[in-house]
Order: sequence, then C-alpha cells, then structure tokens
Amino acid sequence: MTTVRCPHLAAALCCALACCSGAMAAVPPPAPTVTLAVVGDIMLDESPGTAIERGQDPFAPFAAQLDGADIRIGNLECVVATQGEAEPGKPYTFRAHPRTLQPLKRHFDAVTLANNHSGDFGPGAFAEMLGLLDQAGIGRFGGGINLAQAHRPLIIERNGLRIAFLGYDEFLPRSFEAGADQPGVAWSEDEQVERDIARARGTDHADLVIPIMHWGWEHDTIASPRQRQLARLMIDAGADAVIGGHPHVTQDTEQYRGKPIIYSLGNFVFNGFDKAVNNTGWLLRLELDQQGVRRWRTFVAQIDDQGIPHPAAADDAVGACWERGQTMLLPCETP
Ligand SMILES: [Zn+2]
Repeated sequence: MTTVRCPHLAAALCCALACCSGAMAAVPPPAPTVTLAVVGDIMLDESPGTAIERGQDPFAPFAAQLDGADIRIGNLECVVATQGEAEPGKPYTFRAHPRTLQPLKRHFDAVTLANNHSGDFGPGAFAEMLGLLDQAGIGRFGGGINLAQAHRPLIIERNGLRIAFLGYDEFLPRSFEAGADQPGVAWSEDEQVERDIARARGTDHADLVIPIMHWGWEHDTIASPRQRQLARLMIDAGADAVIGGHPHVTQDTEQYRGKPIIYSLGNFVFNGFDKAVNNTGWLLRLELDQQGVRRWRTFVAQIDDQGIPHPAAADDAVGACWERGQTMLLPCETP
C-alpha cells in the first residue's frame, strides 16, 4: 500500500502552481465587469397599458440600451393584477393588466416594488402581482408576501459578481408597508436598512449591494436633507451606490466616499404630465466590478404624450459621465 506523503505533494503542487502563475503573470485575466441599466418609474396602466393592448412595446425605443446591459432594473410604479378595490381617497391609483408583463419581461430582469402605487388596490392585488411576476420570471425586491420577504435582497449573479438589490419606499401612505403576515412594501427605517445591508454582505455573500430608493419631494430637482442623510447612512453601512426615484423629475447627483448617489432618475414610462421637466427621465448605465461602480453615465429619455420614452434628440442627448477617481461629472463624449 502506498502512502501519499502530504508535504511532498504540497511541494509539488506549489511548484506547479508557481510555474503556472509565472506563465499567467504576463497576461493577467481581465477583472470581471457587469453592466447594469436602471430606469425610474414604469407605470403600465392608462395610455402605456392601452399601447401594450394594441401590441405596442413601450420599451422598444430604448431596446438597444436595455438589451445591451447584463442586468436591467426598473421601478414598477403600479400594481399588476385583476383584483382589488382602489384605495379610497387616493388621488391617483394605478392597476395594470397582466398582459403588460410581456414587454416588461422582454427588457427587464427585475423590478422594485417599493413605491407609493404598488399597494393602490390592496394587499390581495399586491399578492396577486407577486405570483404573476414569479410566473413571468421577472425578479422582484422591495416588497414581498410578508415583512421578512420585503426586506430580503434579490441577488443577481453575472460574470462571477454577486449583486444584492434592496428596495425601500419612504413616501406615504405607510399603510402599503408589509406586515408580519401581510403582503406589501419595505419601508426605510434607518436601523433596519443598516441591518439589511449588513445581512446582504454577510449571510447572502453579496460582492456589491445597491439599494433602489423611492423618496424625495415631487417636482423638486434638488435632493432633500433626508435623502442625503439616508444615502450616506446606506453607504456607511456598505452600499456601493444608491439610486432613487419618485419625484417625477431628475435630481442632482453626488459622490460620497467615492460611491455614486443618483437621487432621482425621473419618469420612464408614465403618461399624464404636461411639463417638459416631468417628461424627461434618465436611463442610468453603470459598469460594476469587485470594488463597486467603475463608471456610470446617463442616457436622456424624452417621454411622449402617451407616456412612451424616446432617446433624446442629438442636441439634447449628451448625458453626464463619471469614472472612478474623477471628482466631478463631465458631459459624455458620445450621445
Ligand atoms: Zn412614486
């Protein structure tokens, strides 16, 4: 019987690896990167819903930017369901037909449900939406069948990078929040947010954590003190970028500890707004690596009177560009 003597084997392996790593040193493997596209409010009731019923794809004008990304995320600013009663006294309530999930599935990997419209038709309709999204194979986060699920991150792995997405709403009504046994959205209590981010990094072994927020004052183009405070808290807790929406306009952006904060992407698919500022949104494209966000840029969307976004005309299409190490944003060199 032959006995394998570990020290000798280890030495042989060590030598082989050394030779191997010596050969590899000349051509280091490229660091894995992942491209992520994120858009703001997607509202699939009213005229966008009618367009889908007619066979139109409201995302088609942005198909190139969306389909070219490794991960595509949006904020689903409505419930998708057949049941429920509109929340009494709420000025705007949105419920989209389940058919609207077909074009959504074509262009998006996942949606955040953390917003002030996903609960418009009650917890039963919200629960129906969860099932429809699961059936369609569209990932979801920021909401769930109960409070625990609403705070659980969605992990998407691409090119060896594990990215955790968390979603939070902090625009009323708070009655849309999930309960211990009630379907609904995740609300952003500071200490809970810190725990969720830590758990995503720890238990879920995420390489990157990106919270998608629903916050800020409507029509305000400058982020509020609360948005700034919470964004910093999330980055201090381990977030690699913070991306938000809800104000129906784009807002300012900043960096904190080298991590980008994009306060509001504005509308993306949404009808019913008269002003140009509300009908201008951003598709945000980020390039991610093991260290976080390597670069990001915006693509400007102009939304027509049916609520459908179109890439802005050449003269207005220059978005903002940023790369790791840069202190300020620059106009992008390519539209
Ligand atoms: Zn909203």
